[in-house]
Amino acid sequence: MTWSELFTQEVRVRESPYPMIPVETAIAIVLQHVQPLSPTTADFMEALGLVLAEDVYASEAMPPFAVSAVDGYAVIAADTSPIRRLIGAQLAGSVGTFVVTLGSTVHVMTGAPIPAGADAVVMVEQASEENGHVRLHVQPAVGDNIRPAGQDIAVGQLVLSRGTLLGSAEIGLLATVGRTRVNVHPRPRVAVLSTGDELVDPKDKPKPGQIRDANRYSLLSAVREAGGQPLDWGRVPDRAEAVQEALESAVRQADAVLTSGGVSMGELDLVKPYLAKRGTVHFGRVRARPGKPVTFATVEGVPVFAMPGFPVSALVSFEVYVRPALLRMAGHTYVHRPRQRVIIEHAIRHEPDRTEFQRAIVTRRADGRYTAHTTGYQGSGRLLSMVGANALLVLPAEQEMFPAGSELEAWLIAPVREEETPANS
Ligand code: AMP
Ligand code: MG
Repeated sequence: MTWSELFTQEVRVRESPYPMIPVETAIAIVLQHVQPLSPTTADFMEALGLVLAEDVYASEAMPPFAVSAVDGYAVIAADTSPIRRLIGAQLAGSVGTFVVTLGSTVHVMTGAPIPAGADAVVMVEQASEENGHVRLHVQPAVGDNIRPAGQDIAVGQLVLSRGTLLGSAEIGLLATVGRTRVNVHPRPRVAVLSTGDELVDPKDKPKPGQIRDANRYSLLSAVREAGGQPLDWGRVPDRAEAVQEALESAVRQADAVLTSGGVSMGELDLVKPYLAKRGTVHFGRVRARPGKPVTFATVEGVPVFAMPGFPVSALVSFEVYVRPALLRMAGHTYVHRPRQRVIIEHAIRHEPDRTEFQRAIVTRRADGRYTAHTTGYQGSGRLLSMVGANALLVLPAEQEMFPAGSELEAWLIAPVREEETPANS
């Protein structure tokens, strides 16, 4: 081979075989290839943050019997006498044998069953007790301060439907209806590995040419934040057999696999070739900055996300492609971050060749406007640009300059900051 042939060969090989696709297309492709995981049963107290995989019905009414809504006196509303004989006290938690008749009353506690005969409760604040009698300061109406049986939940009512995300209120409802085991979609188990001969453990001091592995830890954390179960699959050297071995075991044991590094065009970028050989690469380049070489493949049905090595590229790619996928696997109905139109507080210039996700802080101003400023230098190695960011500001391709005051879309990755109203203003 002549030098010029070698050169031509090199140029041909170095051209990515993967077409560059738009971000929204890439997200759609990912979501087409992941499904909710098969339901399992869980103790209800382990189910916080999981998605219900069944409909839950109430087998009893709530309240199960008419109860007093206040501390007071159970009476007959039609009785007009202002003074009633006190015949006893009905506590919460048991049922007494009292019968309220004309001229009599029973002291009732909040949550106590309404004694037989009574059809209203007068609260203690509107009555006074004197020598075994009660003087009412108001004339009650039927039903006053009584919560009828089934007021909150009827027998047989659907209380939680499949697809519901279980939060604290839902856990309380499961307790109310006595469902201590429930069918839920499990947390996706996500193997996370990093590739790169230059990487050392965070606790070690890098030798010349080495850096600490950041991505494995940021991605393991991102998996946990997204409700997945992170599995630390370790650090893998840039050797084809090592990459293959790690990926084979990960694909066998996890619901999804995340790798970092080794997806660019270097000779030691071994992840893409392995995925192409072993499975189907659905995309290998996206028109995005950061994260152009992000790769999505399935190997025996298991989704594999190969993230670029630059720490910001890895995390932004996680946000854009992986998080929605993990949410879908966990059974969520809504998998996207909320999007918000924001007004940029300063001019922004970018390379208009790709859609860019700049890290930004979005604030809701006192006048109701949402404004955004970016977090400084936006290099894809500068993890500090993600610190404190609550949004990815989307700079569309094809436009280079965005003057201060322009309106752009932001994807909210954390709660919007609320402008604090200064005291004494
Ligand atoms: P790569 O995608 O493997 O070509 O890596 C791109 C850049 O990201 C290089 O400067 C790497 O040193 C850096 N990098 C790769 N993996 C990691 C990692 N796990 N933590 C921090 N930096 C990384
Ligand atoms: Mg590398």
